[in-house]
Amino acid sequence: MPISTTTDFDGGGGAVKCQPADTHVEIEMVDAKDYDYLGYFHFKLEGAAGETVSFEITNREETGDRMSEEYQLVYSETPGPGEWSQFDDAVEGGFEREFDDDTVSIASWPAYPYESTVERVDQLAAEYPALVETDVIGESYEGREMHSIRITDPAVANAEKTDIVCTTRQHPGETHGSYQMDAIIDRAINRLNGSSGGFVDDYVFHFLPNLNPDGMYHGYHYDDARGNNHNREWDTPGPVEIDNARNYLLDEVSDLHWAFDLHASTDGTHDAVRHWESNMSDAHLGMIDDIEAASLSLSGTSVEDDPELARGWLHSELPGDGSGVTTEAWTYYGYRPAELEREGSDFLAAVTTPLEEA
Ligand SMILES: [Zn+2]
Repeated sequence: MPISTTTDFDGGGGAVKCQPADTHVEIEMVDAKDYDYLGYFHFKLEGAAGETVSFEITNREETGDRMSEEYQLVYSETPGPGEWSQFDDAVEGGFEREFDDDTVSIASWPAYPYESTVERVDQLAAEYPALVETDVIGESYEGREMHSIRITDPAVANAEKTDIVCTTRQHPGETHGSYQMDAIIDRAINRLNGSSGGFVDDYVFHFLPNLNPDGMYHGYHYDDARGNNHNREWDTPGPVEIDNARNYLLDEVSDLHWAFDLHASTDGTHDAVRHWESNMSDAHLGMIDDIEAASLSLSGTSVEDDPELARGWLHSELPGDGSGVTTEAWTYYGYRPAELEREGSDFLAAVTTPLEEA
């Protein structure tokens, strides 16, 4: 039976054209925007149950070999994050697999749909009512809800706390940030609920998990549904998604300690850690060293003077002596979810000191 492909679902789309014929799928990567064929893609096969499906990427060389011959695409037979496996075979020369399920997701790297961020918010609120407060901070242009996750120890007065901010998915195809954020949330909760001891200092954690809901839903790499690149919009009025984020942060953050803006990168062939070097204390530059050490494929990037973008806004506009960092996971490194989760956990460890249990 012939199979078919679709990108018409939450998180489906991106830079790919599929041409299924019988049980063979030709994948043509598309050069949208300026990311050199290296963007996010995610499509579903339908009618795959019991079929051995073969795949071929027809234009990998367009990436200038930055998607390497050895790269392995990922697939998932169950929707949602964390359930992704790499194909056994590398992309070069084509690859194939027999599937059990009728519907199978295929992606450039592990996807993380918009609805999964909503489910995560609901799960945290239900599971940890003493530590976690969630809120809807507004709606996207197309009417999708945006959320905040606030995590803190209610037994400590807020005046004694500093704020740790973590944002992701301004660039919706950079799903790596969602996996890292999940691990940062888990580490914060595990320390605060006593299962692994607290922190030397007291914090209010603020997580904004879905800064570009429309782009996430439509499977775009960088933009929202109107073509805005959200990371270029922090020093301008609007778009509405960035207004929602700024309003939440200006209302809720009183003494910033650290801000993470989690991204992925198609620029080079390695992770990047971008920070406003000339605006940071020696202690905070030491934390940057630890964040760099936690990045699995780091080539290193500093930004001498860059008050633009979210990183600059978080530095400049929020009260307190905190610092901000933009982390960028290399999209075609071949990250597995567990590796991203380890990075996220280590990122938080870099800017906090654990209070070990006696
Ligand atoms: Zn980005």
